[in-house]
Amino acid sequence: KFITFEGGEGAGKTSVILELAVFLKEEGFDFITTREPGGIQIAESIRQIILDTNNTAMDGRTEALLYAAARRQHLVEKVIPELNASKIVLCDRFLDSSLVYQGIARAIGFDEVLSINNFAIENCMPKLTFYFDIEPEKGLARIAKNKDREINRLDKENLDFHYKVREGYLRLLAMFPERIIRIDAERPLEEVVLETKKKLTTYLNL
Ligand code: C5P
Ligand code: MG
Repeated sequence: KFITFEGGEGAGKTSVILELAVFLKEEGFDFITTREPGGIQIAESIRQIILDTNNTAMDGRTEALLYAAARRQHLVEKVIPELNASKIVLCDRFLDSSLVYQGIARAIGFDEVLSINNFAIENCMPKLTFYFDIEPEKGLARIAKNKDREINRLDKENLDFHYKVREGYLRLLAMFPERIIRIDAERPLEEVVLETKKKLTTYLNL
C-alpha cells in the first residue's frame, strides 16, 4: 500500500507523518516512511542540487527532470522493494508535487511534466494521497517560525507562486477524487493528525 502526502509550504505534512508513524507502530503495522526528493542517497544528492540556493540559474525543465530522476531512483531502490515486501509506504511528496510546482506554478505545463513522470514511474502510482490544504499566507507564517527548517531555493518565490501551488492541488483534487483526500490543515496539528489517522485507519482496514 503506497500512500503519499502532499501540500504547500508549512501545511504540516512532515509533522503529521511523524505522528502517524508512532500510531502505526503502536498498532503493529508493517510500514516505512520516506520522503521526496530524497529517501535514498542518490535522490538526496539530487535534492541538494535542486534546492541549493546558489543554483539560481536552474532552468524549469531541468528542475522537473531532476525531480523525475530522483523520483525514479527512489521508487526503484526503495519504494517498490518495500511494497513487494508487503510494507505500507508513507511518502512525503510524490508525483503531484511535480505536477503542481513545476507543471502549474512554474508553468512548464501539466501534460509535459506528466509525460516525463510517466517515463520515470511506469505506472507505479499511490493508492491514496492526503492533501493538506492551507492558505499560503498561513503556511508561510508557520514556516517563518520554524528555525530548524532547511533554507531552499523556493524561499525566494513570491506569494503568487504559492497561490498557484494551492490552485494546482485543488485542480488535482477535482481530477482524482477517488485517490486524493483533502485535509483542512489550517486547524491545530492534533486535530489534523486525528482526522488523518481516522481516514488512514478506514483505508487500511478495507
Ligand atoms: O517537502 P519539503 O517542503 O521538504 O520540500 C522541499 C522543497 O522543495 C519545498 O520548498 C518544496 O516546495 C519544493 N518542491 C518543489 N517541487 C517539487 C517538490 C518539492 O519545488 N516537485
Ligand atoms: Mg516538510
